Formats: sequence, structure tokens, C-alpha cells
Amino acid sequence: MLLTITNLRYPATDLSFLLHKHPAKVQSVEVVNGKAHVFYPEVSEEKCTCAILLDMDPVGLVRNSDGNSFALDQYVNDRPYVASSFMASAISKGFSSALNGNCKARPELVDIPLQLEVKLSVLSIRGGEPILQQLFEPLGYEISAIQHPLDPHFPEWGNSRYFTVTLKHTITLQALLSHLYVLIPVMDNEKHYWVNEDEITKLMNKGKGWLEAHPARELIVRRYLRNQHKLSNEALAAMTVLEDAPVVEKEPKQRLHDVRLQAVSDEIARLPVTSIIDLGCGEGRLLKLLLENKQLQRITGMDVSAYSLEIAARRLKLDKMIDSQRKRINLLQGSLLYRDKRLQGYDVATMVEVIEHLDEDRLTALEKNVFNEIQPSTVVLTTPNKEWNSTFTEDENKMRHADHRFEWTRAEFQAWCEHIRDAYKYTYDIKPLGEEIEAVGAPSQMAIFSKQ
Ligand code: SAH
Repeated sequence: MLLTITNLRYPATDLSFLLHKHPAKVQSVEVVNGKAHVFYPEVSEEKCTCAILLDMDPVGLVRNSDGNSFALDQYVNDRPYVASSFMASAISKGFSSALNGNCKARPELVDIPLQLEVKLSVLSIRGGEPILQQLFEPLGYEISAIQHPLDPHFPEWGNSRYFTVTLKHTITLQALLSHLYVLIPVMDNEKHYWVNEDEITKLMNKGKGWLEAHPARELIVRRYLRNQHKLSNEALAAMTVLEDAPVVEKEPKQRLHDVRLQAVSDEIARLPVTSIIDLGCGEGRLLKLLLENKQLQRITGMDVSAYSLEIAARRLKLDKMIDSQRKRINLLQGSLLYRDKRLQGYDVATMVEVIEHLDEDRLTALEKNVFNEIQPSTVVLTTPNKEWNSTFTEDENKMRHADHRFEWTRAEFQAWCEHIRDAYKYTYDIKPLGEEIEAVGAPSQMAIFSKQ
């Protein structure tokens, strides 16, 4: 299986610096079930082509199979011959510094758009040319594709799902590699390994800056995560910027969100605490308020979405902050569902309008992580009050935001707080947020948990 990348921008040999591979050598890297050989069929100042040849061991593929169905297809297996998730792994292994936007020798090259041409000798595309166009056209590629017949001797059998594809674009090498890394397995809709939560982080990292706004984002995420709904929903949630999807943004005019954030930050101002972590900090609105609280010496915002964190960094103007301020604040990417040492050692943890973005069956993971692993002395969290929805809709199932997985009534929220109290030894206090209306209560609700 062969992939070539050609640069036509003078001096074309810049490509070899960026790829960190010497043009006069053949270099090989080990990949699962085979080897990737990197070499240059053509090198001049006008045109420089680098090839990556994936040499797969079809026998090893079957032997090392961990129960994945396609690898068990012992007799007919296309994996050695098509660009697939193996090629994506080879790109990340063979060209890791270029994929991550590093170039020690010539750092100034990283951000320069090159005149690039990629050729994939055989690509398996489930859904054919329309899928290819749907994926690459919005990114600005010029595409040409030749579809191969199932068997040239029997034209009546029709076409296969295999294509030879050429893609052209003037773009940075890092952007091109990240597109290929994510989209090659998406076209094929197969993966040679079991997809788990780590894949979300990979997808968010490699998709940063282009996937969030891609019109086929949902298709890409679902196929990349092998149609595992929980994982896909989590990743899509993480990419949904709050303002993007206000389905029923029927909250009261005086911005309810500001009321919430102020209430949370007032609550914290009352406590004798010096460090705080905002879990699911989004675009950093709470962090901005917290910075005004001088007793807080260490403020950390964490979110699963790199995109939101970038907006947070801009909103907080981290790059222009004076040193003494900058030292107080830190942003990190992570998930509140998994154990992570970096989340430990804070007096307070906050989760403002976060839990309702998680599938309800992930709540146990969240509880364990927050109340058992991180175990801050105080946890402050807010979530909508479902009863209040009757003020704007008769539809009981309607939620306030496209990405909410559930919304709780006051009684449901209280029952959950009681469960936390009993299971994790925290006391709790619930407060309404926003103007209360008879029979339905306030639009939002806040719980303050204190470690016993
Ligand atoms: N607290 C912010 C943002 C709320 S929106 C505010 O009040 O403005 C919900 C946020 O939760 C999103 O930014 C989303 O990326 C984040 N999120 C969703 N699942 C997450 C997870 N598993 N780990 C960390 N953050 C998550």
C-alpha cells in the first residue's frame, strides 16, 4: 500500500525538513503487523515527493487478531493492499513531528502552506465518491478519483469500493497530515484495533481547528469512533460550542447563565479556600470571575474540548497576562470521567451546567472520579430544573439545549444529591438559581457539597 506526498512549492525540498526524513535514505519504522518504509522517489527544488510504503504481513494480521471481525477473514482480507487505519497509524508513527507541528531544524516552515499533492494508490471508500467529496471538498481539496472494477476481466460484475485518489491543496503539511490521519479510516469505516475512550482525545487533538466546523462533522465522528454511540456523543458534545446550538434557548432575559456563574463564584468567595478546579470549564466564563477573587492562588480550568480551551485562553487573554496573574491560572485538556492525577489537590471543584451533557449511565464514572478520587473539600455544581420548562413548552421531552442528555426535576436532583451524600460522605445544600415561579421553581438549581 503506497501513499505519496508531493510538494511543488519552491524550494520543494522543504518537505524533507518538515517530514524529518532524509531524502537520500530509505527509512523504515515498525508498525503493527508490518513495516512502513519511507523514501523519496523524486527530489529537486521544483518537485519533491516522499512515499510511504506500508508492507503488511497478512499472516501476522490473522494471528494477532484480537477478535476483530475483518482480521478473521483469513482467506479474503484487503488490509495489506488498501490505505486503512494501518496507514493512519503509519503516518502518526513515521511522521509524528510533522503531524504535531514540530520542526526543530526549520521551525519557520511549520506554518507555511505548501503546494501539496497526495496520491493514495488504493483507498477503500464505503459510500464511494460522494463520501470522498463530502469529506475533502469542505476542506478545500481538489479531488480526482478513479474507481476500480471488481475484476477487469468481468466488467459485468461492476465496480469495487476501491479507488485511486489524488488530492491537491495549498495547505500546511501539518493540516494535510491531520486530515489524512482522521479521514482515511473514516472513508474505510474500519479500525484494526478496539476503539476506546482514548480515541476521543486523539480525534479532538488531530481534528483541532478543522473538524469542529466541518459540515460532515457528525459523520466523521461517528465513523471514526466506529459508530459507538456513547463515545461519539461524548466527542460531539465536546465539540459543540454552547452558542452554536441553542435549540430552545428560552431562558429568562437577564442572562440566566450570568446569574449562575455569579452565584457559584459568590458561594466560593464565602469559603476559606485557595485552590479551585473548574471541571468542564468550556470557554472559561467562570474562570474569568474567579480570577477577581484574590484569595484564590491556584485556578485551573479543565475541559475535554481543545476547541473550547482555545477560546477560553483567548477570552482570558492568557498571552497578555502579567506574570503574577498568569501564575495563578492554568488550562488543561482532560475528561472528568477518568482518573487523572492532574485533577487532584484542589480545595474546590466546580461543574457548571456540565452533568446534563453526559449520558446518564456515565454519571457513576463521574461520581467516582469527582467524589472518590479527586475528593475536594467542596464541590459546587449546577444543572437545569426540568419543571421550569413548562413555562415555555408543553412538550415534556423538550430540553433547553440540543446537547443535553437529561434534565432533572427538583426532586430528581435532590435524590441524586442524597445518593452522593450516602455513597461518598458529603453533606449537601441545594439552592435555586434565577427567579422562582410557583409550582415549577427556579430555572436552574445548584448544589454545594461539603466533605464530612
Ligand atoms: N462550565 C461551562 C461550560 C458548560 S457546557 C460554562 O458554564 O460556561 C459543558 C462543557 O462540558 C463543555 O465545554 C464540554 O466540552 C464539557 N464536557 C463534556 N463532557 C466532558 C467530559 N467528559 N470531561 C470534561 N468536560 C466535558
